[in-house]
Amino acid sequence: MDERKRIFSAMRPTGKLHYGHMAGALFNWVKLQNEYNCFWGIADWHAMMSDYADTSRIKDNCYEILLDWLAVGVDPEKSAIFVQSHVKQHAEIHLALSMITPLGWLQRCPTYKEQILNLQNKDLSTYAFLGYPTLMAGDILLYRSWAVPVGEDQSAHLELTREIVRRFNGFYGEVFPEPETLLTPAAKMPGLDGRKMSKSYGNSLDIAEDMDTVWNKLRTMVTDPARERRTDKGTPEKCPVWDIHKFFNKNAEEMAELHEGCLTAGCGCVDCKKKLMAHVAEMMDPIQKRRAELAKNRDDLTQILEEGAKRARVVAEATMEKVYTAMKMLH
Ligand code: ADP
Repeated sequence: MDERKRIFSAMRPTGKLHYGHMAGALFNWVKLQNEYNCFWGIADWHAMMSDYADTSRIKDNCYEILLDWLAVGVDPEKSAIFVQSHVKQHAEIHLALSMITPLGWLQRCPTYKEQILNLQNKDLSTYAFLGYPTLMAGDILLYRSWAVPVGEDQSAHLELTREIVRRFNGFYGEVFPEPETLLTPAAKMPGLDGRKMSKSYGNSLDIAEDMDTVWNKLRTMVTDPARERRTDKGTPEKCPVWDIHKFFNKNAEEMAELHEGCLTAGCGCVDCKKKLMAHVAEMMDPIQKRRAELAKNRDDLTQILEEGAKRARVVAEATMEKVYTAMKMLH
């Protein structure tokens, strides 16, 4: 058995992933898999919780998300990559943790309140949706994970996981370690309209998109509003294109020139975007092509998910053994 520390993280199969996912999570996963025993879940039950009224896309989206992961370098030889519902113990541990999770903790969860308000086209006043953080706690604890790599936006959920651990261990003994937060060292990537890049805002650049499509989007992306005309001076720090440069452009000299060019109006936004596009294409063109290649063979993808689930189940079964014993159940 792999003795390295275990790490778990997951994403919901709600559609194709974008550059924000890559910058804010996936590149970090690619590094972590060299150091830790990583479990990466495609959280279909979590997708079900918000999309239960129309589940028609979830199955295909499991493949889409897998392709995005593989294309950027998440490696099934190094990590277990699997679909949450294929490892039945996720459902079992969710039920076990539901016994001890106080309603108040869930009702107070900031993301719960926020989502109910934001997603008004969906009726999320369901039993399962309230329990979303309990399932998430279950996902993490099933692998008795040492740590969870998350973005800032998820740290409240992780705190709730730790509270659930303390309560569970308080009742039944030391079964679970309190997972640590491994905060992903990445700034938020802005989308085409300057807000956070997000599928729900329709402002994203997707990993699967070819370079012509990406350029057509980048070309019209908002810049510092002060630069209405070519001769207007701007401030890079107020420009979302600059933030994307910071991720893709590793050429310090060129960055300094562009910075100066923006401040003095020596360089126009279109030129700045063309430079950015060259760096985007250098990184993304091979990723996009690899993805297109991988997409040709679904059987290979299915195989990867089967292997991943097998590896995950070994740990999951051992954990559930501990849970049932600690809870003094006849099993
Ligand atoms: P979920 O898959 O649970 O719906 P999200 O799609 O919101 O979650 O994001 C998955 C991960 O990608 C999170 O860790 C989040 O912080 C990160 N992420 C998403 N959008 C961005 C962005 N625009 N910039 C940086 N990181 C992002």
